[in-house]
Amino acid sequence: MIHSTTARVCVIGAGCSGITAVKNLLQVGLTNVVCYEKGNQIGGNWVYSPQIGHSSVFSSTHIISSKNLSQFADYPMPADYPDYPSHKQLLTYFQNYAHHFGVDKHIRFNTSVVSAQPINNNRWQIRLADNSTEEFDYLLVASGHHWNPRMPHYPGNFEGQLLHSHEFKTTEPFKDQRVLVIGGGNSACDCAVETSRVSSFTAISMRRGYYIVPKFMLGGLPTDVLNQRMLWVPEWLRGKLQKIAYHLIVGDLAQYGLQRPKHSLLEAHTTLNSELLYMLRHGKVAARRDIARFEVKLCIYRWYCRTIRCYYCRYGLSNYVSVFRYLAY
Ligand SMILES: Cc1cc2nc3c(=O)[nH]c(=O)nc-3n(C[C@H](O)[C@H](O)[C@H](O)COP(=O)(O)OP(=O)(O)OC[C@H]3O[C@@H](n4cnc5c(N)ncnc54)[C@H](O)[C@@H]3O)c2cc1C
Repeated sequence: MIHSTTARVCVIGAGCSGITAVKNLLQVGLTNVVCYEKGNQIGGNWVYSPQIGHSSVFSSTHIISSKNLSQFADYPMPADYPDYPSHKQLLTYFQNYAHHFGVDKHIRFNTSVVSAQPINNNRWQIRLADNSTEEFDYLLVASGHHWNPRMPHYPGNFEGQLLHSHEFKTTEPFKDQRVLVIGGGNSACDCAVETSRVSSFTAISMRRGYYIVPKFMLGGLPTDVLNQRMLWVPEWLRGKLQKIAYHLIVGDLAQYGLQRPKHSLLEAHTTLNSELLYMLRHGKVAARRDIARFEVKLCIYRWYCRTIRCYYCRYGLSNYVSVFRYLAY
């Protein structure tokens, strides 16, 4: 609990979490707030760069949570923003927010924090990249986590190019290539849809069933807005209504070549994508099962393995997503 307005507070990171932390600290009367940002501008994940770095957005990223539920309550997004703004619009919005609330004056750009040590009297010593140190009464860490890709491992040897979705920036490298995307989360579905626009063949491999939820549902409402409007409905009934609505709009996922999920709609992190199902039904993306192993540029799926009861794959992908390029399957 912050006990004095003279307390010295350190915030690490000027992404959307860091800037709103600083804004709220200033609003409760703290003045001695320092925000260290290793980059040269506000926005974190939303500062798109064609080079691999902190940001994981690609050139055509749009948010998957709608404008209504993604904006700060006391600083609405501009009225002319669409339901699902682009990464550029989001970046402008965050930078304007920081400027509006005087947050930018507290940020030290191009300053990396390399360590934070607890010291006497419950204080913190912060070491910066130039080896200088600073002391603070409080520390808030808002350094993000999507910048740190974790690569899965599969049995076998893959000789194509292997990328993590963090490295996916534009579709250009995938032109006329055969592409396998692994995963069923938001990044995987985006990668499959985007690469399928230019590739010679794109497949998506999912180890289980995922609900692929369109970005607009009944009444043309953004899905999260519809969900929010239904919060007054008792949970047991809401679940049933959501299932019916999903079935009316999307139908049986097996029709798309996908596995039927074994969980209920909101039991797992939702994958929002209006284009993947369309691409699957247009033959632009092919659905594939879990991967058992690779052989040079050949990918062997667990589905087939199960049939011949030969290879058992116990490797999972967690929530991490990769994009593979391969020549045969
Ligand atoms: C492709 C993609 C799409 C997404 N879409 C949505 C969406 O639609 N809706 C949604 O709610 N969320 C979405 N997310 C989640 C996203 O992570 C959040 O929207 C948001 O960017 C997290 O903000 P953050 O401030 O916590 O972290 P970040 O935006 O990652 O910011 C962290 C900041 O800390 C700085 N930093 C890190 N380490 C240090 C250090 N040692 N010293 C100094 N500075 C440091 C970084 O430079 C960066 O500026 C998406 C994520 C991805 C990858």
